[in-house]
Order: sequence, then C-alpha cells, then structure tokens
Amino acid sequence: MRQSLVIANWKLNGDLELVNFMVSALASESYTADVVICPPAPYLSALQQRTQNTELAVGGQNCSSFQQGAYTGEISASMLKEVGCEYVLVGHSERRSLFAEDDQVVASKLVAAQEAGLTAVLCVGESLTQREAGQTMSVVKQQLLSALQNADLNRLVVAYEPVWAIGTGMTASPEQAQEVHQEIRALLATIDAQQAQKISLLYGGSVKADNAEIIFAQEDIDGGLIGGASLVAEQFRAICSAV
Ligand code: PEP
Repeated sequence: MRQSLVIANWKLNGDLELVNFMVSALASESYTADVVICPPAPYLSALQQRTQNTELAVGGQNCSSFQQGAYTGEISASMLKEVGCEYVLVGHSERRSLFAEDDQVVASKLVAAQEAGLTAVLCVGESLTQREAGQTMSVVKQQLLSALQNADLNRLVVAYEPVWAIGTGMTASPEQAQEVHQEIRALLATIDAQQAQKISLLYGGSVKADNAEIIFAQEDIDGGLIGGASLVAEQFRAICSAV
C-alpha cells in the first residue's frame, strides 16, 4: 500500500500570520494522507517550530544543486534539512520556465536533495502546445528519465502537473490524469519494478475542494500538489480529507 500525500506549495505567498493560522487550522484534524507545507524559505523555521507535536511536515520549494560556496542567494538541501524539512520540490514548471532550469539542473538538484536526506518531489508535465501536438508522453518521459539518472528511488515522489492546468482553473480530467500517472509508474518500473509500486505519484493543477476526491480516487494517483487552494484553510483541509 502506498503512502498518500498532499503537499501545499505556497509559492511566493504568505507571511508569519498565515503560518500560524494554517497550522492551527490544519493540526486540529487528523488525515489519512501525510500533509506537507512548503512555505517561502524565510518561514521554514517558524513553520517547523509551530508544527512540532503535530502530524504536519515541512518542505522546501527549491534547493540549490550546490552544497556550499560562493553562490549568493542559494539555499542548499542540507540547510533545508537542518531547519526541519523532510521534502523539497524539484523541477516545478515555474522554476523550469521562469528561472531557466533545464533537465540537467533538475537532475543535479534532485541528487543534492536526496544526498542531504530529503525526499525529492520531482515535478513533470507538458505545456498546452505539447499536449495539443500529441507530445504529452514523450515530454513527461524525457523530464522523468533525465532527472532520475542518478536518483535514489527510495527518496522520491513524482508530481504530474500539466503546465496548462497550473493556476489556470483548468484541471486535467481524472482519466487524462490517470493515463499519465499510469505511464509514469510504468516508466519507473523500467528502472525498478518493485520500487515503482511504492512511489507516491501526485497530481497537481487547479485541484480544489470540489474536484479533489474524483482525481485522488484514480488508481495511480496517491494525492496532490496544491498551489492556490493551499492558501485557503477550508479548501486545503477539504483537499487533505479527500484522499
Ligand atoms: C502548483 O503550483 O504546483 C499548482 C498545482 O498550483 P495550482 O494548484 O494553483 O494550480
């Protein structure tokens, strides 16, 4: 049986007040899924302190591919680990498109994360143009396999996030999402058939309280990576309970 998981990606949103509010709003309930919050980096320590003695876990939104040195503005995976992170997102489409992270950078960040003892949440997904050109599976395959060249499949979660569904209100249908998740699991099985059955696969892209249940009910979907709706307590609580 795979561990179900819901991850909140706050992106560049929130403040200390939201940290306090969300922890009180979420920690009062218990969930079947593991629940992880990824706030902006300056709030990680505060979140870690507030979530002690709760079932909530903490994650980073990004990490450097470097361990240390003259890299102004970077945050290493071991620093995230030291301030209490268990997870880190790698290869989010906003990092790929807005910060020019290519497959090679994503692969090196993933290794850096795992070497520091974090579980890497590898994000993959096609653009609308690529979907319309029938390239969904080839894009996902390229992003997945290039990122996993030197990876440890024991410390891995994969999030399928069609770029056209992120923050747009357009969600992949449960069938579209399941089709790609099934393919991702089959690709993982080409690396390690046993481990592929254990890796949690998440769907991300405009998941809300009213569509979470049907998406999470799909066979190969083990939870979600949630952007906008993770900033609204009632929405996110309902999504966590929908797994
Ligand atoms: C995301 O940023 O990973 C995401 C899925 O965002 P949203 O839920 O807002 O589409």
